[in-house]
Amino acid sequence: MGDNGAMDSTAFDASLEHRYARLGDGFREPAELGGFARPELIAWNEGLAEQLGLGGLGADRDRLARWFSGSEPLPGAQPVALAYAGHQFGSFVPRLGDGRAALLGEVVDSAGRRWDLQLKGSGPTLFSRGGDGKSSLGPVIREYLLSEAMHALGVPTTRALAAVATGEQVFRNQPEPGGVFTRVAASHIRIGTFQYFAARGEREALKTLADHAIERHDPAAASQDQPYLAFYRGVVERQSRLVAKWLSLGFIHGVMNTDNTSISGETLDYGPCAFMDEYRARKVFSSIDHAGRYAYANQPAIVHWNLARLAECLLLLDEDVDGFQAELDRCPEVLGEEHLRLMGAKLGLDEPREEDRALVDAFLRRLEDEEKDFTLSFRELASRVDADDESMFGPFETQWRARLVEQGAGAATVRGRMNAANPLFIPRNHQVERAIQAAFTGDYSVFHELNAVLRRPFDEQPEHASLTLAPEPEQRVTRTFCGT
Ligand code: AMP
Ligand code: MG
Repeated sequence: MGDNGAMDSTAFDASLEHRYARLGDGFREPAELGGFARPELIAWNEGLAEQLGLGGLGADRDRLARWFSGSEPLPGAQPVALAYAGHQFGSFVPRLGDGRAALLGEVVDSAGRRWDLQLKGSGPTLFSRGGDGKSSLGPVIREYLLSEAMHALGVPTTRALAAVATGEQVFRNQPEPGGVFTRVAASHIRIGTFQYFAARGEREALKTLADHAIERHDPAAASQDQPYLAFYRGVVERQSRLVAKWLSLGFIHGVMNTDNTSISGETLDYGPCAFMDEYRARKVFSSIDHAGRYAYANQPAIVHWNLARLAECLLLLDEDVDGFQAELDRCPEVLGEEHLRLMGAKLGLDEPREEDRALVDAFLRRLEDEEKDFTLSFRELASRVDADDESMFGPFETQWRARLVEQGAGAATVRGRMNAANPLFIPRNHQVERAIQAAFTGDYSVFHELNAVLRRPFDEQPEHASLTLAPEPEQRVTRTFCGT
């Protein structure tokens, strides 16, 4: 830090580490950042920057635009593309890797936590397989809004540090303005990273990876009798809880391939993901998910399947098949318990019991039958805690109110609890789409407004009431696309 609190580039230099890149040659390939002639900073996440100890960087926007688009080397950065494999829609691809991303290095924050800094859309790498390695501004705006909204909703997720417009065009179905996104993650280690080494029979590299992941995400596992099994237990816990959280918010990830399933338990890769408006258990948005493999209600089965793939890899390090099976079996249990807890809280229940699952199901069935908005219905229900008719949600309402009476808490308490568990603002598809279309014309005001509102998703913000609304028929987004 300089005298005026501004961080100069020398100070920054010292703050980047490269522990993952140093695990070995097989873990990554050097990434050359071509850069862009006229990058323009759209957003810099000051709060996150401060948390990372990068708070002083915000003043020079032009420099940030150059650094966080790969147009000028960020001091101390050693850009690498990470190697990984993955099951995509159930089919194994032995070599995927970062085709449009570059890890710049790691930052250790004041609490001692290590964070990856990664550019997305900065240009082709050895893993690009014919892709251009770049990104349209659309996916940049999407991931920024969605990941920061998820964070504000209390869901583990990668974060957004910066968004830059490159000033160049990329060609998708039509020419679109290009962008680069800076992602911050507890790590970019995926189930697919383990599969990469396991599929090659590289047991030593697999062990190096597992030991690194333990040090980073499950340090207590290191001193257990079976460290890899203990580590696996941690991953199962985190991923199971994560998917329960998604369900409680009506979130559909859209591409739960094993290469998009993180070891840290963070929501990773905001491609064709979406929050649903009207509730439908079989809801799918992704244009490429023809069979509905990653439909809303299928997500628990898929995370279970993905975790089984991780067990297969770790069995190369610890042959205790029964042990891994027992941990894998905990996935539906942990997910189910967390789901009941979260959905119960959404209905105003302090200590939901097994029998309350029927109540949750009854409410969801009602929403599905009536094609009601998932998010708004829970807020509406909160306003009916002490209503004396049951016209809005039918017979469910009578059962629910009886259960609330049995629970004993006062109406105001229950209402408060429900409003703290049920967001009013979510990043609705049609609003995200509106922000993207405006950004394509160089107008970032919609993006900034949405981003500010979504930081306080549970608070009434009367001046932004229109952002709570479900789409009008002509605003509906029925299909979403991968960020390629
Ligand atoms: P995703 O499903 O979006 O996480 O991406 C799957 C794979 O496709 C990863 O290996 C990406 O690096 C790669 N990929 C996606 N978009 C591009 C692109 N524009 N250029 C090169 N590779 C890409
Ligand atoms: Mg991915």
